[in-house]
Amino acid sequence: MSSIRLDDTIVAISTPIGEGGIGIVRLSGGDALKIADEIFLPKNGKRPSRFKTYTVHYGHVVDGRQRIIDEAILTLMRAPKSYTKQDVVEINCHSGIVPLKKIFDLALINGARLAEPGEFTKRAFLNGRIDILQAESVLDIIRSKTELSLRAALNNLGGLFSKKINDIRNRLICILAHIEANIDFSEEEDVKERKDAFKRLKEVKKDIEKLISGANEGKILRQGIKTVICGSPNVGKSSIMNALLKESRSIVTHLPGTTRDTIEEIVNIKGMPLVLVDTAGISSSEHPVEKEGIKRSHFSVKSADMILFVLDYSRKLNRNDLKIINNIKDKSNVLVVINKNDLKKHINLSIAKKLLAKKPTVYVSAINMTGIGVLENKIKDIIFKGKVPAADFVSVSNDRQLSILRRTIEDVNNGIEAFKNKISADCIAIYVRSSIEGLGEITGHTITEQALDRIFSEFCIGK
Ligand code: GDP
Repeated sequence: MSSIRLDDTIVAISTPIGEGGIGIVRLSGGDALKIADEIFLPKNGKRPSRFKTYTVHYGHVVDGRQRIIDEAILTLMRAPKSYTKQDVVEINCHSGIVPLKKIFDLALINGARLAEPGEFTKRAFLNGRIDILQAESVLDIIRSKTELSLRAALNNLGGLFSKKINDIRNRLICILAHIEANIDFSEEEDVKERKDAFKRLKEVKKDIEKLISGANEGKILRQGIKTVICGSPNVGKSSIMNALLKESRSIVTHLPGTTRDTIEEIVNIKGMPLVLVDTAGISSSEHPVEKEGIKRSHFSVKSADMILFVLDYSRKLNRNDLKIINNIKDKSNVLVVINKNDLKKHINLSIAKKLLAKKPTVYVSAINMTGIGVLENKIKDIIFKGKVPAADFVSVSNDRQLSILRRTIEDVNNGIEAFKNKISADCIAIYVRSSIEGLGEITGHTITEQALDRIFSEFCIGK
């Protein structure tokens, strides 16, 4: 998208292409109603452009020769109270590729232009209905995988995160005004001002740091926590994965080492997305395929956010178990899962406990599905240290926002250092101004056209 236009009318098929119950063709712009007049024949015979806003009408889509294309429902939302703040028309038709494409083509013939990815949301931004953070949260809503990530995205859409950023930005603007008004801080009164500005800049720093550290929780909510299930062959890793998935996707078998590669599944645990990785049984093997699997599982353990280490209740610890224990004993976020507790106990628990000092442990039977609820609760405790995000949880939701925050905190730090080293006020002002610009980029107060294009290119057409 090279230049920004708002004066033409855009059209897109807003629902996924394929057979389905309902398909929607959406129009936005100054000619949306005029085009609706040309292509929609309501049952009541009125012209769509005479309809009241937020009303729904039954009728038929017709071509230039008044031939019926499809039976449809038309919804009309007049500017400025619409998704884009322009006149918006939505035609709900039968969702088949032919009717959808025909209606879409008719809109083009009558003067609309094909919308680019995310252009409806982009118009909502350019027309001032939402800021960039809110626009990005639309994408997060579409992509959310659990209730918690949906709630966080909805909070961002509602403007909670924007409010936090704007609040910090306004405080920085205030600090800048004070610095500029007392540019040399030479008088005694000005020294007081200087101290005050210094203190407030340090407070801003703390708040930005909080946002940066909350980014990780946000990432966990959106992308899922990478949880690796590891342990010797045959201890029941696949069975535990299946118990957690409550469906049999990975093969459960009596033969050790059949899970030769790693298998990944997303599972929703207490509202949190867990990317479960079932590793090949970690043991020494000469079999080339198995060797590759084992190499990968070592790598998975290294890159995991959390490890479920599985031991077999019904047999003594062996060399392989001890090797893995050695590998993971210094890692944080390890949960020891002692499986097969439906069988007779043979595991030397005291040794295991000593070696795995203080690591939380749960006893389960994957076969009987006992202890799985306790396992889920323990996972939740480990991820959020027992604190599930509050209802007003907001967070950075992508790398763009995070990298700007990191840049901003660097500016704030430089400002603080300059204060400490009694560097001239105009130099401090440069850093503060740059941090204000940074925060403005996050919400879209100050944003380049290229950055806008990059953001909206991730959207689908019709959104
Ligand atoms: P993996 O190699 O670690 O993935 O182990 P599997 O999940 O393939 O299980 C190995 C064997 O142990 C299979 O025969 C399972 O049926 C059995 N098994 C797994 N979990 C349990 C359990 O809780 N109790 C009993 N009795 N057998 C289990």
